[in-house]
Amino acid sequence: MTIALITGSNKGLGKETARRLIAEGHLVYVSARDADAGRAASDELGARFVQLDVTDDASVSAAADTIRREAGGLDVLVNNAGISGGFVPAESLRGEHVDRVLQTNVVGLVRVTQAFLPLLSVSENPVIVNVASGLGSFGLITDPDNPHYSYPSISYSLSKAAVTMYTVQLSKAFPNVKINAVDPGYTATDLNGFRGDQTVEQGAEPIVRMALIGADGPTRTFQGTAGELPW
Ligand code: NAP
Repeated sequence: MTIALITGSNKGLGKETARRLIAEGHLVYVSARDADAGRAASDELGARFVQLDVTDDASVSAAADTIRREAGGLDVLVNNAGISGGFVPAESLRGEHVDRVLQTNVVGLVRVTQAFLPLLSVSENPVIVNVASGLGSFGLITDPDNPHYSYPSISYSLSKAAVTMYTVQLSKAFPNVKINAVDPGYTATDLNGFRGDQTVEQGAEPIVRMALIGADGPTRTFQGTAGELPW
């Protein structure tokens, strides 16, 4: 049985990913910054629970200590927690708008990953899935024929571009760990006021696919619902 941790899995894509990994027989740690919301989700799914706020060092290291003590290590880390930060137009964008999004989507993701790399190092097939977005893809954002081209999401896009760059750099530093980025696609969740045109079942598919890769699976790729995406 493999052991998986999913950040921000009290709802949305993270919760659906937890449901699917449990159905595949994995021991899953649901995590949430809000303990009540996280416990409710983990009880519903039959998961374990750890409190984990990606912006809080003490919370992240306490979660790593708990999983080390209870499970002895980790096989799959899904860095899913994220915020949109709202879409502030370029004319009124200020540093603090960007800072808030980066603190969660980038600094938080790096904080969690660095804290859990020692636990992943004891796994026979360590896997990290970084939930990025097509809105962070230079390939899609610069293509006038692609719907992402006209989406004015500056803070969010630059945070997700940083997530994919971290994915690339980390995969070079840790060749024994399979590290991939994923775009779930536009999915109806709290993040977008449930305006997304996909269900969470559809959006979680590439996350689950990359969480379940075996020893012969890819590393340093960016995957979407229909296959590989441009960085
Ligand atoms: P969601 O339903 O709003 O879920 C986001 C999750 O992240 C929630 O559990 C939220 O917890 C958690 N979170 C936020 N800040 C956190 C923090 N500081 N510490 C720990 N957890 C925190 O949205 P979602 O659509 O499922 O988003 C999941 C991931 O998919 C995000 O990284 C998002 O950027 C990415 N994504 C989504 C879409 C889409 O169309 N939905 C498309 C591309 C990528 P709370 O309940 O406490 O807020």
